[in-house]
Amino acid sequence: MSETPKDRYGFETRMIHAGSQPEPVTGARQTPIFQNIGYVFYDTDHAASLFNLQTFGFIYSRLTNPTVAALEERLASLEGGRGATCCASGHAAQILAFFPLMEPGDEFIASNRLYGGSITQFGKTFRKFDWRCSFVDVDEPENVRRALTPRTKAIFTESIANPGGVISDLEALSAIAREAGIPLIVDNTMATPYLCPAFQWGADLIVHSTTKFLSGNGTSQGGCVIDSGTFDWAQNDKFPALAAPEEAYHGLVFAETFGDMAYTTHSHAVGLRDLGSTMAPMNAFQTLLGIETLSLRMARHCDNALGVASFLEQHEQVAWVSYAGLESSPYRALAAKYMPKGAGSVFTFGVKGGYEAGIKVVESCDLLSHLANLGDARSLVLHPASTTHRQLTDEQRIAAGAGPDVIRLSIGLETLDDITADLEQALKRAAS
Ligand SMILES: *Cc1c(COP(=O)(O)O)cnc(C)c1O
Repeated sequence: MSETPKDRYGFETRMIHAGSQPEPVTGARQTPIFQNIGYVFYDTDHAASLFNLQTFGFIYSRLTNPTVAALEERLASLEGGRGATCCASGHAAQILAFFPLMEPGDEFIASNRLYGGSITQFGKTFRKFDWRCSFVDVDEPENVRRALTPRTKAIFTESIANPGGVISDLEALSAIAREAGIPLIVDNTMATPYLCPAFQWGADLIVHSTTKFLSGNGTSQGGCVIDSGTFDWAQNDKFPALAAPEEAYHGLVFAETFGDMAYTTHSHAVGLRDLGSTMAPMNAFQTLLGIETLSLRMARHCDNALGVASFLEQHEQVAWVSYAGLESSPYRALAAKYMPKGAGSVFTFGVKGGYEAGIKVVESCDLLSHLANLGDARSLVLHPASTTHRQLTDEQRIAAGAGPDVIRLSIGLETLDDITADLEQALKRAAS
């Protein structure tokens, strides 16, 4: 992923061209789906140098695949990072992101307003690796500073939190991380690089569920970890996987040998090698196609979401609307600073009548699909308390912005009047 003239192109040009060249043998202009596992070695010396990480190249598709590599280069370029590692899902990306940083018994600090699945993954499943997460309210960055211990290895937050439309103060969190000598990891799924350039605001690592807005059409599960390349892994003794000798590679020190590509090289050569959560080439292809129209879709998603949020805010059966793009939102100023092009298209509102009314609205929608995904071209509706946030305690649900009356919307690309008309009739049916 060396610097090419393409890195100097604008965002929209890189959405289409980064990582993609005409295929040299056939001239095929679209990136082919390399549905292939093994790659022929020139000779045994070539094979040995590949296995020793002395030469970059393709060995076996669990580690690297040309279609997946094209997507990695495109995402690294769009985020303005140094390198990227794609994997099977957003949740796989979160394991992969922490894997080079954490030893058993280590800790990290995360926002208590994450995607419900991330709270379960960090709070329960990570415990099995003895990776310990403390959840804090990051609206008050001092909470994060107070939760730091000598074993804290990272701070994790979402740029726009799913589902509450809450915006993190990235600059403040980054300052605390920098002082502690640990990276700030930002889940940029809801914002995408089009809305929020998280590295410019001090993130060191970015994770994505590419399943959502990046692929954009609800066909392909995927995740990605992107490294800014600017964090110094050898500045302290907190990161031995990157800054101390690695036995499996004859004592190689990733930070010394690979410099600003240390983290990404480790994620492929050790992370994907042993965790095995590889992205399928077909999914990489679908995601590359989706990204070609990212800016157009995100602008439209944001316009429609603001239209729907304004409609709901006026509606007599709606108790409140939590969308950072509204003047009434307490996150309006943070949204204007970190995502001036729009506050995304996933947000929540409260329906009068609580749990029962919430279920009725969701079941009464015709155009909006009742399902657990987001970032689709289609508008989607969900009642988190009875679905995605079901496994949390009441207290965790309320902290995560998923109380009993909460309805989550992911506003799609349809005609705005059709979306609001569907919600209007669903609210009417719920009230009768
Ligand atoms: C969906 C989602 C995830 C998990 O991604 P999967 O692809 O479903 O594994 C993580 N973070 C956020 C913000 C998400 O929306």
